[in-house]
Amino acid sequence: MQTALVAGGAGFIGSHLCESLLKDGFKVICVDNLITSSKDNIQEFIDNPNFKFIEHDVTKPLEIDDEIDFIFHLASPASPNKKSPRSYINFPIETLLANSFGTYELLLLAKKKGSKFLFTSTSEVYGDPQVSPQTEAYFGNVNPNGIRSVYDESKRFGEAATMAFVRKFNLDARIIRIFNTYGPKMQSDDGRVVSDFIMQALHGKPITIFGDGKQTRSFCYVDDMVLGVKAAMFKENTKGQVINLGNPDERTILEMANLIKKTTDSSSEITFEECPEDDPKRRKPDISKAKEVLAWEPKVPIEEGIKKTVEYFKRV
Ligand code: UDP
Repeated sequence: MQTALVAGGAGFIGSHLCESLLKDGFKVICVDNLITSSKDNIQEFIDNPNFKFIEHDVTKPLEIDDEIDFIFHLASPASPNKKSPRSYINFPIETLLANSFGTYELLLLAKKKGSKFLFTSTSEVYGDPQVSPQTEAYFGNVNPNGIRSVYDESKRFGEAATMAFVRKFNLDARIIRIFNTYGPKMQSDDGRVVSDFIMQALHGKPITIFGDGKQTRSFCYVDDMVLGVKAAMFKENTKGQVINLGNPDERTILEMANLIKKTTDSSSEITFEECPEDDPKRRKPDISKAKEVLAWEPKVPIEEGIKKTVEYFKRV
């Protein structure tokens, strides 16, 4: 039986990844310090004998006896909405360190254990992009000291650290850049657009669009994302590669507000609030590389994914 360590395994994408790896027959070690994630996300399989949870901050060395075949590094706060208690804006130092020291510690562990390594970077490395769609070759347009810089710049550092270990130590590591992802197990107070709009619509509260709603994002359903993350780790020819993962189906935020209002059959009004600083205006992945190298592309249409996510939020 092979062992996979998932750092950030109690988070939104991490918990889906743990569940999927358990189904695939892996022993899974979930490492998380729970600052923005939740043990509720792993409750369904916490008693599975092949699952082990370690509450630990990845910025500190991790002493572990087990053999580890694969290390997935997803441990970082990820929401930019400063109104959310889970936002990286409210954990600026933790975010900087999770993606810098945390990546370094996990890379050292991968080197010591001979593990394959995957670093989850982000579409945020493209900043407020001046080209669309974004290919992996685009270097981005990032404010190096703006409010989002703790996330963007530390993810960029994490990418550089990962590639340094590939070049210097021949580590079998790869980088994925995750674009907006949604689905069950997002935290209801996460502050991201899909969870905010669904919670507001379900509770008859105003649906709060930041700015004019013409900014775009491209939303990927979490089940599709997990398949992409696994493909990036397990497929041949991914060592040293940087690969965008996301759904190229680009939507305006206003369209999302209307879709969620319709899906929830809500009478909430749509309101417009001040746009946050450095909010990217467009975001759409070019996934040609993922299609070619991983034979992966998202399958779940936005209407279907939103329906499933609404069902989840009605239960929690
Ligand atoms: N947004 C919004 N209302 C909200 C939360 C977010 O209009 O309640 C906007 C936000 O300003 C951004 C987009 O939705 O333009 C996506 O925001 P999110 O925080 O989900 O992700 P990111 O900015 O990282 O893509």
